[in-house]
Amino acid sequence: MQKRMLGRTDMNVSVVGFGGIPIQGLSFEEAGRVLGKALERGINFFDSARAYTDSEEKMGRSLSGARGKIYLSTKALSRTAPALAEEIDTSIKNLRTGMIDLYQLHSVGSPAELERVLGPGGAYEALVEARAAGKIRWLGLTGHSREIILKAIESGLFDTVQFPFNPIETEWEREVIPAAIKAGIGTICMKPLAGGAIQNHPAALRFELTRGMDVVIPGMDAVEQVEENVRVGAKPAPLTAAELDALALEKTKWGETFCRRCGYCMPCPNGLNIPFLFLIDGYYSRYELRDWALARLAALEKKFGDCAACGECLPKCPYGLAIPDMMKEAAKRVV
Ligand code: SF4
Ligand code: SF4
Repeated sequence: MQKRMLGRTDMNVSVVGFGGIPIQGLSFEEAGRVLGKALERGINFFDSARAYTDSEEKMGRSLSGARGKIYLSTKALSRTAPALAEEIDTSIKNLRTGMIDLYQLHSVGSPAELERVLGPGGAYEALVEARAAGKIRWLGLTGHSREIILKAIESGLFDTVQFPFNPIETEWEREVIPAAIKAGIGTICMKPLAGGAIQNHPAALRFELTRGMDVVIPGMDAVEQVEENVRVGAKPAPLTAAELDALALEKTKWGETFCRRCGYCMPCPNGLNIPFLFLIDGYYSRYELRDWALARLAALEKKFGDCAACGECLPKCPYGLAIPDMMKEAAKRVV
């Protein structure tokens, strides 16, 4: 596994890190097997979040024996200093460590929100205090807006930024990635497989690792996925012209309005598994994997047509997707 310095930090991270969303769906024992395989195969950067239910606890239980050899990274949605201070203490307890290597302000989405976290009494104050107290070492920010990530870089207040760059969401290459590199700020690639939209996983990871991202953090919930991703980390070679053409074709298939499976819209009060339903729709409509999609849809209790259009999910989607309308369209299409 190749390693790289994460920006100006002292963390020499494996180029393939571990994204902590999918282990939420595993038992503690199953998560232990996947995390153990990641450790065994050289992954040393593990990223979780307070918002990922028991992901931090699973990492804490499985990784505490390897603490000296790995970097722990997590994040929280709290926007005020007292609330974030509590979150940091909870993360420390969950992760079974005395100190967290990287703590990030999670999913900062608008200029007003950025102003709030950086203003008096804002969450950034808690990061600085926790660093002074030796509870965390490096400070980061995550988000889906290029404007916000750029402002965070320009502020000089953060050591890392985390954002969704992949062969479908390439707009980050214009300004954001060059600005981060110039400022010596670590770049952490979330959603490297565009939430499952990209079929050629190794090609996507190579794309990101050869275009300015220090570390990619695909979510993993099976040892086979760990093996596949780790193979890329051993030698992330630039893509050939033919591989780039194939990825460009995937980009045109998906356009901009598709679900990246971040799960921020969940839970749905009507019991719909929103990201999984959109994955089924995508595979049915864009890849024509109709039998695969219909078999999975049949196994679900709540389907597209069960969306009550209550709108509760709408403000939670960082991509501004018109979820109820998309459900209605998918109900007509996937039959
Ligand atoms: S609009 Fe539909 S998908 Fe969204 S929360 Fe309401 S019922 Fe669930
Ligand atoms: S609909 Fe939006 S919030 Fe929900 S999983 Fe998809 S991208 Fe994320």
